[in-house]
Amino acid sequence: MNIILLGAPGAGKGTQAAYLVQKYGFPHISTGDIFRSNIKQRTEIGVLAKSFIDKGQLVPDEVTCKIVELRLAEDDCKNGFLLDGFPRTVNQAEALSKIADIDYVIDIEIPFARLLHRLTGRRVCPKCNASYHVDFLNGNNVCECGAELIHRDDDTEETVSKRINVYTNQTQPLIDYYKQRGKLISVNGDQSVEEVFAEIVAKLG
Ligand code: AMP
Repeated sequence: MNIILLGAPGAGKGTQAAYLVQKYGFPHISTGDIFRSNIKQRTEIGVLAKSFIDKGQLVPDEVTCKIVELRLAEDDCKNGFLLDGFPRTVNQAEALSKIADIDYVIDIEIPFARLLHRLTGRRVCPKCNASYHVDFLNGNNVCECGAELIHRDDDTEETVSKRINVYTNQTQPLIDYYKQRGKLISVNGDQSVEEVFAEIVAKLG
């Protein structure tokens, strides 16, 4: 199965991706994670990506599409993959259609009012990418894997607002794009992580 996870920043794509990978075993390809890993290693791509990510903007399509093309050509993607955070523009979706057939696009729907609170309170693990919310941490800033949690640089209120605008203008059109192609599965993201996951699994059939 080749699957895309769609949804606004903060909709819970990363969390659901981890559940899906555990159940189905396919590789999880998150362009955001790939960029963050490049930033950490100070590669040329990392330096370029950071200049866009810090402003809440999208990294240019040429760079992003190339990274995904190379990643999907790797052996572990032959029997299916889960794309998280890609495509984010119609142009990227068109580029993807030339290199892979997509079976399902899962759109995690969430009221926009929830996103700001979710993202500004989000704490992530730099080691295993797990995601938490300060409301449930009780001041304990440590991941299950033992690493110290961090507040992503682009999870500040100002950058989050910009990212939500970018999503509305550039990524939301993909919902219609994939609906027209009969690929779209919509799930209610405004419920517990387990309930969202159960809905996805039921709809994947
Ligand atoms: P994410 O972790 O998916 O929220 O991505 C974090 C940031 O990385 C985004 O706000 C973008 O700046 C950049 N990014 C991730 N995926 C893409 C993409 N498909 N196209 C362009 N920029 C991306």
